[in-house]
Amino acid sequence: MTTTVNARALQPDDATTPAPRPTVYIETYGCQMNVADSELMYGKLQAHGYAPVDVPDGADVILVNTCAIRENAETRVIGRLGELRRFMKPDTIVGVTGCMAQRLGPRVLDQARHVSLVVGPDGYRALPALLDGARRGEKFTATDFDLEEHYEDVVARRFEGVKAWIPVQRGCDYRCTYCIVPTTRGPERSRQLPDVVREVQQVVEQGLTEVVLLGQTVNSYTDGTHDFADLLRAVGAVDGIRRVRYTSPHPNDFSDRVIAAMAEVPTVCEHIHLPMQSGSTSMLKRMLRRYTREEYLKCVARMRAAIPGLALTTDIIVGFPGETDEEFEDTLSLCREVRFDDAFMFKFSPREGTPATRMPPEWTVPDAVVTERFDRLVATVRGISRENNLARLGDTVEVLVEKVARDGELLQARSRDFKTVMVPADAAKIGDYLVVQLTGTTGATFTGTPVTNKPERQPLPMVG
Ligand code: SF4
Repeated sequence: MTTTVNARALQPDDATTPAPRPTVYIETYGCQMNVADSELMYGKLQAHGYAPVDVPDGADVILVNTCAIRENAETRVIGRLGELRRFMKPDTIVGVTGCMAQRLGPRVLDQARHVSLVVGPDGYRALPALLDGARRGEKFTATDFDLEEHYEDVVARRFEGVKAWIPVQRGCDYRCTYCIVPTTRGPERSRQLPDVVREVQQVVEQGLTEVVLLGQTVNSYTDGTHDFADLLRAVGAVDGIRRVRYTSPHPNDFSDRVIAAMAEVPTVCEHIHLPMQSGSTSMLKRMLRRYTREEYLKCVARMRAAIPGLALTTDIIVGFPGETDEEFEDTLSLCREVRFDDAFMFKFSPREGTPATRMPPEWTVPDAVVTERFDRLVATVRGISRENNLARLGDTVEVLVEKVARDGELLQARSRDFKTVMVPADAAKIGDYLVVQLTGTTGATFTGTPVTNKPERQPLPMVG
């Protein structure tokens, strides 16, 4: 039996607690908002007697928390759902959550017959009850939007060792013509400022000192009384917080108040990820980004004038419909002018239902042209990044040690301006703030040498 349900209708207290400590594994794709949502799902299920596990082998419940932003993200998930079959016991329940679940709804059940649950981002409150139903052989789709849902009563089960993701806003009211997010996450709504501050205080009690505030256009945050500037000031003043970051802002929502709060609150880090998407005004118009090249540059200039040492990173799309050589050259020239510290660069991926898919077919940029432009863009951005980083050699910076680096020998740390710094130290230093001198760079990351023997200790978080 397949049932479509409203998640609010299934209150957690109505759910019976399942048999002792069934295990749940969640695999997360996509953005930090999905990471934060997975932490909420773990928290919700843990409160209902489930035990989180970090491998799918033999788990009682496997959830795949998905992304829909690009076609290959969805293709990967469909492939992964097939692979996960081999980890299933006869009674394992498999669910698909997140943006792809919201976008495809019951179609996921048709594409993957071993999936029992399809739950969108506003439906996680009902997971324990839905899992009880799935255990009885039922299938569910829960993809209603719930504009009141912020999961205020759910305690996230955090896995990130040294920082906390804090969603402050869900959904998006912009309508960029390439973007599926307004369809998958619904209209914009913000949490109340006191609720966010309370969560940040709890995070500090758990031993964390860095928070990242999350929203699709996070700087348009408003709870009806407070704006994003108020939020930065309130979070930044929480006793014990040492670093505040946020992602992703929209250039149009950088009021003077927000920039002043960034400049004046010492705990707010000197880094902004400022999505640009294109350097061409005509292209930005087709993307419905609602700013021009000149306005973007003006925004950058206002920020740099107010915040010394500000690092800027960005997102750029290549090959959007109708992109001409001149428009692409405008993107390259804007990169040279702003001199971004880094960029996420993407080839345009049409998403069903977005206005971009209804643009004239003759506007489609041939794959070979997209690839050639993409390669040139990557070379340009990486070249600038390398030059920026070479100029930093010899600087002394404070870093927070985050984890063991991929090579297994060095530790990976992060500066306030979001530079990745590899430091020689033992794993006991994860969670410490160190002062290091930047002694080398690969172009993308740094190596650093501690210049003080007295690192400041940050207690390790208590999670679980
Ligand atoms: S601002 Fe544009 S790109 Fe960002 S989530 Fe909203 S619609 Fe998508």
